[in-house]
Amino acid sequence: MIPFVDLRAAHAEVAEEVREGFDRVLATTAFVQGPDVAAFEQEYAAFSGVPHCVGVGNGTDAVELALRASDLPPGAGAVLPANTFVATAEAVVRAGLRPVLADCDEEFLLLDPASAATAAGTGTAAVLPVHLYGQQAPMTAVHELAARHGLAVVEDAAQSQGSEQAGRPPVGLAATSFYAGKNLGAYGEAGAVLASSAETARAVRLLANHGSEVKYRHETLGFNSRLDTLQAVVLRAKLARLARWNELRRAAADRYADLLSGIDGVRVPRAAPGNVHVWHLYVIRVPERDRVLAGLQEAGVQAQIHYPVPVHLQPAFGDLGHGPGDFPVAEKAAAEILSLPMHPHLTADQQERVAEALDKVLRQL
Ligand SMILES: *Cc1c(COP(=O)(O)O)cnc(C)c1O
Repeated sequence: MIPFVDLRAAHAEVAEEVREGFDRVLATTAFVQGPDVAAFEQEYAAFSGVPHCVGVGNGTDAVELALRASDLPPGAGAVLPANTFVATAEAVVRAGLRPVLADCDEEFLLLDPASAATAAGTGTAAVLPVHLYGQQAPMTAVHELAARHGLAVVEDAAQSQGSEQAGRPPVGLAATSFYAGKNLGAYGEAGAVLASSAETARAVRLLANHGSEVKYRHETLGFNSRLDTLQAVVLRAKLARLARWNELRRAAADRYADLLSGIDGVRVPRAAPGNVHVWHLYVIRVPERDRVLAGLQEAGVQAQIHYPVPVHLQPAFGDLGHGPGDFPVAEKAAAEILSLPMHPHLTADQQERVAEALDKVLRQL
C-alpha cells in the first residue's frame, strides 16, 4: 500500500518537541492565547516575508475574516476560480459577498486573468486568486486587474506555504489553512491571515476574538476563531522543518517527472515560469481518469481527485445559476485530473511502484 500522505512519518520527526511543548502548555494551562500562539505568528510572518500574521481557527475562517476585514460593500461580487476547494466560495458567501466565478488556464489550472477580467464587471469588489496545488496564481496580472476594477486582493494561500513567485507585487492580504494534510499541517483545525497592514491585521484579530481587544469590551460583532495554543506548539515544530520538507516535495516532483515522462497518455504537471512550487498536490492528467483511479487503487496506490466537481456545478452553489459548459477549462480538467501520492517522506522506491502501476493500468485501458 502506498499512502497518499504520511502524517505518521512527519510526526515522528517532531514528536519529541511536540510532547515537550504540550507538557509546557499543560503545566501552565495556557490553553487559549498562550505564548506559543504569538511566537508562532511571528515565526510564520517571518517565514512568509509578510509583516503581520494572525492565527485563526481554520483556513475557511481565515478567508472569511480577511474578506470581512477588507470592509467591502455588503452583497458585492468577489471573483474566484471555479476550480478550487469549495471553502474559497463558501467563505465568500459567509462574508456576505457574492461569488463571481471565472475559469482557469489550460496548463496550470490557476485563475485565468482573461476570464477573471470578463467576470469582474460592475458590482465586484474583490478578487481571490487561489494558489492551487502549491504554486501561485499569476499575481502581476491579478494586481493589474484589481487596479483596473478597484478590487481588493485576498489570496487563498491554503495550498502554497513557502511558495514564491519572481517579480510579483508584495502580499497585501492572504489566508492560509493548517488543515492536517496541508504542507504545514496542525493536529486538528488551524489557519492564519497574513497582512501587510497593521490596521488590517488588527481588524482580523478583533473579528476572530469576539470583536474584542480589551477583555469584555466588544467594539464590533465578531466570531470565536482563535488559533489553539496546542496547535501552535505543533505548527512551530513543523515550521522549523517546512523549508526542508518543501525541498523534499520538489525532489519527489522531479523524480515523478522523470518516471512518468515516458508513459503514453500521462500529462505531467510543471511549475509556471518564475514560480517556486511547493507541490502540495502532484496532479497529472490522464484519459479515462475514473478507470485509471480504480486501477491504481486496486494496485494499492492511494490516488485522489482534487477536485472532482468544480464550484459552479456543486448543488450548494446552484443558486448562482450556472450549468455545464459555463467554465469549460475547469470542467475538462475535472474529468482528467488525478493526484498521485505526494509528501516529504515519499521514497524513490514508492514512486517507482506508482509509475509501474500507472503504466500497467494505462496499457490495459
Ligand atoms: C484547505 C483549503 C481551504 C480551507 O481550509 P480549512 O482549514 O480546511 O478550513 C481553503 N482553500 C483551499 C484552496 C484549501 O485547500
